[in-house]
Amino acid sequence: MKVSRLANGSPEIFHTLQGEGPSLGAPAVFLRLSLCNLHCHWCDTPYTWNWEKTPWKHQDGVKFSKSEQIIELSPAEIAPLISHYNCDRLVLTGGEPLLQQKDLTHLTQLLPGISFIEVETNGTQVPDDDFISIPTQFNVSPKLSNSGMDESLRLNFAALRVLASTPTSFFKFVVCNQADLDEVQSLQKKLFLPSNRISLMPEGRDAETLHSRSLWLADICRDQGYRFSPRLHVLLWGNERAK
Ligand code: SF4
Repeated sequence: MKVSRLANGSPEIFHTLQGEGPSLGAPAVFLRLSLCNLHCHWCDTPYTWNWEKTPWKHQDGVKFSKSEQIIELSPAEIAPLISHYNCDRLVLTGGEPLLQQKDLTHLTQLLPGISFIEVETNGTQVPDDDFISIPTQFNVSPKLSNSGMDESLRLNFAALRVLASTPTSFFKFVVCNQADLDEVQSLQKKLFLPSNRISLMPEGRDAETLHSRSLWLADICRDQGYRFSPRLHVLLWGNERAK
């Protein structure tokens, strides 16, 4: 499996608090997978996809060495690194984890101590029949125009409809302004999503930016029935990796 690699050479597997979405604040082990099929210009994990000699643009303007940022491990090698934390919640994140869903299916069969599995996904990949029943919760985060990605790449309605019809799926969106909110509401109608399955999050990679963008969004959530999600990990630890 292609796992994100930290500067010290270790795989990016860490014990922290879930920072976003409906289980915000819950202690969890995170496994960060490398690779993503999208290239959002504000992505906070560009080291999972923005390789040297690729044309993709990111707001930081930094490229990463693919060989330095990926560690290849088998599910059997990853499982004990997760179990070591003695925590019953696992969050599979990325990058885009569903690009490696067959290996993830295998991995989850090796984790008897895990009772709650969350999968973070950009909603462009259709979960296969084996994988779809595994997560206790999908956290689906379709990308809006503000990602800089073309709609034909960032919205796959075949995948989004499967995920929306899965009762354990919650949707979350990074919202910067009214135009973003209009896009969320258009998508909500197309997918027949109730507002209480949608979290709205401010965009920002430091506490000050997040706070300045939160008050407007909090009022909208209160008035229109959405969940408001801060980005707890950013508030607590800024943009630090493996937190
Ligand atoms: S889908 Fe997520 S991981 Fe992929 S580029 Fe966009 S923000 Fe980053």
